[in-house]
Amino acid sequence: MSQALPALEVLPRDLSAYRPGNVGVDYVHRFESGVPGPHVLVNALTHGNEFCGMVAACHLLDAGVRPLQGTLTVSFANVAAYETFDPQRPFDSRQIDHNFNRIWSPEWLDGDEDSVELRRARAMRPVVAAADHILDIHSTSQDVVPFWVYPDFARNACVANALPLPGVHLVMPQGLGSGMPVIQHGRHGQASSNAGAALVAECGQHFKQSSADLAVQVTLDFLGHFGLIDRPVQAVSQAPRRFELLQTHVVGHADFRFTRPLVGFETFAQGELIAMDGDLAIHAPCDDCTVFMPTREPIVGREGVYLTRPLGD
Ligand SMILES: [Zn+2]
Repeated sequence: MSQALPALEVLPRDLSAYRPGNVGVDYVHRFESGVPGPHVLVNALTHGNEFCGMVAACHLLDAGVRPLQGTLTVSFANVAAYETFDPQRPFDSRQIDHNFNRIWSPEWLDGDEDSVELRRARAMRPVVAAADHILDIHSTSQDVVPFWVYPDFARNACVANALPLPGVHLVMPQGLGSGMPVIQHGRHGQASSNAGAALVAECGQHFKQSSADLAVQVTLDFLGHFGLIDRPVQAVSQAPRRFELLQTHVVGHADFRFTRPLVGFETFAQGELIAMDGDLAIHAPCDDCTVFMPTREPIVGREGVYLTRPLGD
């Protein structure tokens, strides 16, 4: 199932200059306007090889973007994984021990286990908890259309609907099903809470310049939406294409394989065979079942594929 390596249009840059933050947590920078307003967190590198967020966060810091109101926090999350990047194995620097984006439950954060990612999540916990609104910037292993991912709360849809891009939304009525992501930490994961919006933006393929360009645009739009910067957000010209997450399949066997090569957004009829995982057959649970984020290289214990269904208007 091995695939050719993609072109590396964006490469990691040295982030050591950003290590000393100003809130007592490495790689976390906070800017207070002194004017009442929302606290927005822009988080990059939740996954170490997703460079577009790094480009967007560096853009904010290098350009000296400061909030007109409220508070802006800019963070680089899994720099430890990022720093292991090897151009010969560009997918391996996603994480070191744990998926940083699945350990944001009290069980993990307050538990006894130790790992690079758990240590970093514990350090960043007050940073995430303090934010009213969170933009967590990601990218995909395959070159597919960008999309939002968020828990199915009105406060999230409201913001995603107000921004012109990405034009595809993956909503999660039941959460992710495979762990607790950053955007569902604490009050952001609760349906009835005073939390603001918490969104993942999947900006395109990890190593493409277009993904980095989109990440910058989405970040500035997000800050403009909340009035932190003066940026008129373009009107949304097209209704978004929305999908609902039905199942997250975690790979159980080393011989996991799809019935045909998938990159994402392929559709299957109800009952159609999508993959075999050992003896387990994974069938489409509905018509027009649309796959998101099919794994490039199946790894036991990691996600193999998301099964979704398109939502009407
Ligand atoms: Zn990611």
